[in-house]
Amino acid sequence: MIPENYDPPAKLMSGRTILITGATDGIGKALSLKLSNYSCNLILLGRSTLKLEAIKKECADHVANVEVFKLDFMHAKGEDYQCLIDMIESKYASIDCLVHNAAILGELSPVDHYDIGLWQQVIHVNLTSTFILTKCLLPLLKIGKFPSITFTSSGVGIKGKAFWGAYSVSKFGIEGFAQILSEELKNSNIKVSTINPGATNTNMRAKAYPAEDKSLIKNPEDVLSAYLYLLSPEFSEPNGSRFSL
Ligand code: NAP
Repeated sequence: MIPENYDPPAKLMSGRTILITGATDGIGKALSLKLSNYSCNLILLGRSTLKLEAIKKECADHVANVEVFKLDFMHAKGEDYQCLIDMIESKYASIDCLVHNAAILGELSPVDHYDIGLWQQVIHVNLTSTFILTKCLLPLLKIGKFPSITFTSSGVGIKGKAFWGAYSVSKFGIEGFAQILSEELKNSNIKVSTINPGATNTNMRAKAYPAEDKSLIKNPEDVLSAYLYLLSPEFSEPNGSRFSL
């Protein structure tokens, strides 16, 4: 179980090297800003140079050492991933935490109307690129300290829901991938977990539920303590644990 309102002691987070995808908006941005208060090394990934520069600026007054890196999962090629690996190897030698957070919703549409190209894009960004990034960074995680891989899932990754199409299928895939990886890594020091943040007030949520009263759902800041626990050396739940907030 995740301790309520978990707030890791600063010294435990000090020096931890943490990579977050989708760090430029929503939950990923809120998490990045929160972590910038700890003296850790943050590697923030996003697809927009402007938004990456903006978050780097927002973190500038804080204590973390922040590196931003542009990687658009829709279009990234092998050499782009290699650049990321080279940067991490040269600056940090290893990483301790990998947070898979970036995702796109696609469209809410019945299957017979779902655009085939969009379906492929959603599966590629949400699932295939998660596999590629994990594969690329596993060697650097294996030499990290109290290393962890955090996958972001969704309620529709456990129970299919009409019209959620490729997004729901991609999250089922994430759940399966996390199970496979946690079994493969059961004798290693890497902790694999899956977190479903639940209904949270972000652009993605607004796109899915445009008429929703936002005052009735959580803000990104409300889910962060759970993420902090998964990223801290104190995280002690069994490998392959799933959490729903
Ligand atoms: P969000 O506000 O839409 O943020 C998504 C992030 O992913 C943004 O930083 C976005 O970049 C980035 N991203 C999108 N496409 C990308 C690409 N091709 N390459 C690289 N980065 C890309 O979404 P959120 O609500 O914070 O969602 C965060 C995670 O929580 C997702 O995995 C989502 O499925 C999950 N989740 C959310 C909810 C909810 O209610 N919000 C519920 C369950 C699960 P830009 O800043 O450039 O757009």
